[in-house]
This record gives sequence, C-alpha cells and structure tokens, in this order.
Amino acid sequence: MRVSAETALNTAEDQVLAGPVVIRRPQHTLSRSNVSGNALKVLYRLKKCGHQAFIVGGGVRDLLLGLSPKDYDVVTDARPEQVRALFRNCRLIGRRFRLAHVRFGREVIEVVTFRSSQSGAADDREHADSGRILRDNVYGTIDEDVWRRDFTVNALYYNIADFSILDYAGGMEDVASRTLRLIGDPVVRYREDPVRMLRAARLSAKLNFSIAKRTARPIREMAELLREVPAARLYDETLKLFHAGHAATSLERLRQFGLLEYLFPHTARTLLAGENNQALEFIRAGLENTDRRVKSEKPVTPMFLYAVLLWFPIRETAQRIRTEDGGSEIEAFLDACDEVVGEQREYAALPRRFSSPMKEMLLMQRRFHNRRGARARRLLQHRQFRAAYDFLVLRAECGDADPELARWWTEIQTLSPGEQHEAFAVRRRRRSRRRRRASPRSPAGGPGGGKAG
Ligand code: ATP
Ligand code: MG
Repeated sequence: MRVSAETALNTAEDQVLAGPVVIRRPQHTLSRSNVSGNALKVLYRLKKCGHQAFIVGGGVRDLLLGLSPKDYDVVTDARPEQVRALFRNCRLIGRRFRLAHVRFGREVIEVVTFRSSQSGAADDREHADSGRILRDNVYGTIDEDVWRRDFTVNALYYNIADFSILDYAGGMEDVASRTLRLIGDPVVRYREDPVRMLRAARLSAKLNFSIAKRTARPIREMAELLREVPAARLYDETLKLFHAGHAATSLERLRQFGLLEYLFPHTARTLLAGENNQALEFIRAGLENTDRRVKSEKPVTPMFLYAVLLWFPIRETAQRIRTEDGGSEIEAFLDACDEVVGEQREYAALPRRFSSPMKEMLLMQRRFHNRRGARARRLLQHRQFRAAYDFLVLRAECGDADPELARWWTEIQTLSPGEQHEAFAVRRRRRSRRRRRASPRSPAGGPGGGKAG
C-alpha cells in the first residue's frame, strides 16, 4: 500500500536518522551478472584490501529498474590516496573534493570516499550566504554519506560484502512506485545545490518517474537560483538532458517547471510568446531526431542541438535588428547569432569550438537556395555540409523549408561527380540572380527563412 507523499517524506527523513533497512540478496532483484565487470573488479579489490565498498546512485537504481547503467559510482571508506595505491589505472581528480577515476579502456569507474555532509552539522563545509555548498571535503561514514545524495532512489547502496542493498531513505519503495523524492527538506536541498532542480526534471524524463509533490512544489519559485550556477556546469547538465535519448521529454519537463529560461532564455521566450507553434514543432522534431540518433548510437553534436534550440530565436532577433537598425538581411542575421550566442554564454554556454561551426551551418541554410555554379557546388565539400543538410531536411519536414529544395540536395549527393557538375552548371540569365538578391522576400526574416528554392 502507498503512503501519502507527505508521510513518505517524513519516513524518508526519519529513516535516514534511524539507519538503513538491509535488504538481503534473496529479497531483491539486483544480480551481479548485470553489473559491469570493471565495477566488480574495483569493488572486489577494495573489499580484499579490507575496505568497505558499495555501488551507489544511478547504477543501483537503474539495475533495479532493469536498465543498463550509464556509469557506476563506487563509494568506500578508503581515502583517495589509498584508492590510488590499489589501482594502477587510477587518477585522482577534483578540487572541490578529491575522487578517484579508475580507467578500463573507455569505461571509467568513479570511486568516492564517504563524505560527511549532514545539513547543519558542525564540520568545515563552507556555505555561501544563499546556503549553497561551496566546499565539501570532510570524510565521513556511510551513514553520513547518504545526506549528500539527492533523491531517495539514488541513495541505495549495493554492498559487495554480502550483496545486500542498504536502503536509508525508502528508496526501494520509491523505485517500485517510480517516484523521485528528495531526501530532507526540498527547499534546503535546492538551496544547497540548485542543479538538483534540473536533475529532478532530467531524471523524471529519463526514467519516466513522477516527482513527489513536496519535491516538485518549490521548483518554479526557486528556479532563479540557477543564475548562480556556473555556465559550464549548466552546459554539462544540458548535454545530460538532451544527449541521453530523452531530449524531447526533457524539454517538456523543463518547460513544465519553468526551468528552460535558466538554460535557454531566448528559446524560452520564443516558446512562451505562444504564437510560435511552429518553433515548438520544429524544436520537438529536432529533439526527437536527436533521440533517435542516440538510440541507434549515431554521433550527436552540441552544435546541432544548439542550432535546433536557437534557430527560431536567432531569426526573430534578426528580424528585430533589421526593423530597428535597417541593414542587410545577412548582417542582421550575423548580429543576431552573436547576440543570442553571446547571451547564452551566461546560461548554458556553448563552447566556442561549437559556436562558430553552428553559425556557419545556419548561414548555409541561405546558401542552399542557390543551386548553380561553382560556389553552390563547393557547398558539398564544406565542413558543415552534412550537419547543415540534415538541418535543412529537418526544416523541410516541419514546413520551414521547401521540401523540393531538400530533395534536390539529397539527390545531388547520390550523383557521380560528372552528373553533379552538370547539375550545378550555370545555364543562363545572370540578371535574374541579381534581381533575386535585390528583393528581400524571406517571410521568416532570416537566411533560409522563406520557402522559395
Ligand atoms: P545518470 O543516470 O545520469 O548517471 P545518476 O543519478 O547516476 O544519473 P550521476 O550524475 O551519475 O547521476 O550521479 C551519481 C550519484 O551521485 C547520484 O545518483 C546521486 O546519488 C549523487 N549526486 C549526483 N549529483 C548530485 C547532486 N547535485 N546532489 C546530490 N547528489 C548528487
Ligand atoms: Mg550515474
């Protein structure tokens, strides 16, 4: 039987204080045969050397749900230096707190020493005035480590000593009912680390979990605390939201909780304006496309993701700039790119190595309209051709570009070099080209905005 959300929260807190419920091996479904061999190696080595060793977090949660974990987090009472001494393939990282990465080829097992972080405990954790944790480097016991975890389902510890699971906060029940519930007082926990709000949105999208009422309630109001989070961390979290196979649902959750504006303010404004269903449709299609690529293990790039999220905002900005300052369509478009990407820098910042290619790729949307001559032909060799072409196809699917134009660029790629040469050949009447240039006629106000081919 389910208890109400409020009662369960108290249970979670009381239970942490009371110590863990131990679920013995026969009473749970987590089987060693599903755990990564490398994670097991790390656990066994630690155990053999007299240390405690557990898998915690997403690894345990996902295995209980029958999913295969993205990564494994191991916690231990061994100090980072002791961990390093045990593994040849080990590196200590982190300034805010030190942790060990044990590397096996491409797989990295993260090994963290139990840390004490009980809210209000008299230790030397450092808080900003807002309550945000700045430094957190006091070693502790497993009973204290649990307070560092966010949701009850992330605070299950799989013990390599006897294959039992330690449940400190009612996580097993929340796994069963597919609920995300913060341990402790949500307001305090979000203040400590506002990224937990994004994690709530992300994990509910990824796992198809509901969010407990008390955990969900403060998010809208506290969302602006995300302004204090470094842009690079927001960028990392953005990739986890949008490059893990559940981008479309992530977007929905972010909008539902008023979080999108703290990652992509321009996009949030465009979507809020409401009149722009086309933008929403386009972004959704782009994200679904990304999800399909992730699921079939095709590469995805932040450049494309940001292009999808920022295309309509950039075009709207270009239109505004042109109305205000005049100037050419292309200048306005370039200024709009700079403005939007520039503002983005204070939110989920796109690293520079992606922002210039993104700009090129978006500019190519305009160049695709010209299908004659050497310049057009050279587009096929452009570094961003593939991405720009995919983007054109996506636009065409959403009624944002002429499907015939997209088809033309699809077909041209299937032709032999000789046939391509023929297809790009300049036939006649240069003057018609000049006339076309002189008349701005793109209804959407930016390069490639129109449907004309
Ligand atoms: P994923 O499936 O994305 O890996 P995850 O829950 O494992 O989800 P990680 O970022 O790998 O997420 O973090 C591992 C564990 O560390 C979490 O399960 C949680 O216990 C803890 N954790 C991570 N970030 C936070 C945070 N901001 N606040 C509290 N605990 C956190
Ligand atoms: Mg994880």
